[in-house]
Amino acid sequence: MKIKRAVTQEEELATATKITMKALKEYFGLSPSAYSWILKNVATQLAHAFTKTVTEKELDEVIQRMMTFWNTYGLGEMDISSKEPLTLEIRNCFDCLGNRYGVGEPLCPFKEGFVKTVLDDKLGTNVEVKEIDCCGTGSPICRFTVAGLLKQPQI
Ligand SMILES: [Zn+2]
Repeated sequence: MKIKRAVTQEEELATATKITMKALKEYFGLSPSAYSWILKNVATQLAHAFTKTVTEKELDEVIQRMMTFWNTYGLGEMDISSKEPLTLEIRNCFDCLGNRYGVGEPLCPFKEGFVKTVLDDKLGTNVEVKEIDCCGTGSPICRFTVAGLLKQPQI
């Protein structure tokens, strides 16, 4: 008899997130900016599902939890780039790998939507997440600033 490994809800969500990013990339191609609201909306739904698994409520813990989710399942290496303003960076992004480097526009409204939703859901904020560097514009790292937090992270 085969022993089936238990798949956690979080792992399922990570897989769903990867499949969704890949599908969106195939559907919208190398120039997604005109459809950024769709990418953000889809990411929002997945992020709502993720935040249901998150019991943490403090800013530092929520950021840590989100980074752990991102880093554990091969979505990319998410880290804090600077604290004031909070800037998150993603290296080796699952979404950007491949043929999208330097296409001339930011490619990551999906991640903007995901990060915004996680923070807003858990902290009751209405933050604005904006991608300022992207592999799509020739940067080796995608970076996202977060405006509108009630306090700055300590981690
Ligand atoms: Zn990017």
